[in-house]
Parts: sequence; structure tokens; C-alpha cells
Amino acid sequence: MSKVRGALFGLAFGDALGAPTEFMTYEAIVRRYGDRGPRDLPADGRVTDDTQMTLAVADGLLSALEEPPLTAARLEPRVRGRFLQWLVDPENNRAPGNTCLQACRAMAQGRPWWEATVAGSKGCGANMRVTPMGLAPGLTDDERAGAAQLQAALTHGHPTGLAASELSALAVRWLLDGLPVAELPAALRARCESQREVYRGDWLGDELWRRPKVESPAQFISTGWDECLEVLTGLEDAVRYVGPDADPCAAGGAGWVAEEALATAVYCVLLHPDSPVDAIARGAASSGDSDSIASLAGGFAGAVHGAGAWPSEWFERIEYRYDLDRYSAAWS
Ligand SMILES: [Mg+2]
Repeated sequence: MSKVRGALFGLAFGDALGAPTEFMTYEAIVRRYGDRGPRDLPADGRVTDDTQMTLAVADGLLSALEEPPLTAARLEPRVRGRFLQWLVDPENNRAPGNTCLQACRAMAQGRPWWEATVAGSKGCGANMRVTPMGLAPGLTDDERAGAAQLQAALTHGHPTGLAASELSALAVRWLLDGLPVAELPAALRARCESQREVYRGDWLGDELWRRPKVESPAQFISTGWDECLEVLTGLEDAVRYVGPDADPCAAGGAGWVAEEALATAVYCVLLHPDSPVDAIARGAASSGDSDSIASLAGGFAGAVHGAGAWPSEWFERIEYRYDLDRYSAAWS
């Protein structure tokens, strides 16, 4: 299905458009690229760690799915193995996140993931790479949710990173399945409420939730759902009061943390439900974590519109295009 290809290439296109603007102010971006943000994919199609780690997750997932059903025991060593390959890849020089580096180094020393993970981190590295969990066909909602949270937990131990990763994966799935973009924020908020006390012990084990002052797994995870719910509240209104010619971080936050990256990316797609390029250009023209916001937005927009909605010449330019096509073919 070209929608899977649209989502995979879309996340890479967004990542590449946002790469040069990640550390620029909104004013500087607009001065250089105009009000509507960067809109032309550079000739070298260079992506960042967002796409690299997404491919690592995709590869681990594809390998785990060779023998269904999907379980933590099959998924975790495969994703961890790909993360450790990424850690030492000479191409891992694209402003990778510190949390990912720190946790991967600890896993490389042989520590189990629940000790290696950065317990207090909810950086968007948890969900910037989760799109494959929404794309693989035939998984149950519980499998998607568990897999999305587990891949996050390998590096980011904060409950909000887990919840935002599940939401990011489900958003991709729901859009692929035909959910109208306008209904996405409400669907995500309903998920926050229904899952508030659901700790996925089958996937996360019995160590991760144990923290000072946390008395139960349900208490641990509820913090994550509450923080996601808060940032997703009012996104529809922001389309009116922030508007199409303003920094999208005013709507959903700067995106350095997972729940804000999700909210601001959803906002970019809400703002431009009929134009994927406008949506990722808006994400790239953001004062915050531009590449991650635009990458998530590109995955969402591509899931809605399919590969045919992106400029055809971009497919020849984007880095890792053969890998992206490999997973597209596997899951279409
Ligand atoms: Mg990046």
C-alpha cells in the first residue's frame, strides 16, 4: 500500500527538511526560508538520527515478526542489537540525542535495558523513531502499544516517553486506517483516558516502574498519560489562535520532550490536512526540535495521503531510500 511508503518516506523527508533548522530561532528560519518554512529537499537528502533510529526499530521489528506472535522476548534483543549497531555507525554524526547515546553505551557494556535506560528522560528520542510500530500490518492494538513502549523504554525510562510513543504509533495506524485528521486529537485524548492506569508489564517487566515515592505500576504510568493529555488538550483551537504563519511550537510546545513533539507534529498536520509538504515545512519552521517535529508530521501526513502526495523527485534524493523502500515493501 502506498500509504505505508508515504509514511516511511514522509518521516525521512520531514527529518531532512528540519535538519538544518533544528537549532535556529523561528525568526532566523523565516528570514532564510520565508514565512512558509523550508520547502525544498536539499540535493543530498541528508537525514538525522530520527530516520536512522527509525530504521533500526524497523529492522528489529521486521526480524522479530519472522516468527509471530510479537513478544517482548523476541523484540527487545533485536531492537537493542540494531541500536548498538547505530551507536558505533560512522554515520551516527547527526546531532544524536544524549539520552539515546547514554543508554546505548550502558547496554553496550552489557547492562540490561531496564538498568541502562535513562530513568528520568522523556526526550522525544523515545517517539521520533516509533513509526514502524504503527506501520507493520496485522498487529493487535496491545501488541502495537507494548512494542511502541518497549522500544522507547530501552533508552527513555520516563512514563511520558512511553505514553507518547504509544500515541505516536497509534496515530500512524489510525490515520492509515482512515481516521480523519480532524478527529485525531480527540482520539488521542480518549486513549490517554482509557489507558491511564494500564502498565504493560508483559512488555516492560517489573523493574522499570520502581521509583522513589511510586507505589504501584499504575501510579507510575498515569503520570505519562496525564502529561500527554494535557499537551493534547486544545490543539484544535490552536489552529485558529496560533494560525498558519506562526511558530507551531506555540501550539504544542518546543518538542524537545516526547509529548510536545507529538502534539506539535499533530498540530502541523491539523493545520494542513490536505497538504503534506505544507505540514512538514511548518514543522521544519519551528523554534524547537524541528527535525523531530517535522519527521513525526511527515509520518502522519504520509499515512494519510500516501507516497503519491510527495514530490516525486524527492524519492531519488533522500538518504537511506533503499532501506525505506525495503520496509515499505515488507509492510505494504
Ligand atoms: Mg534528529
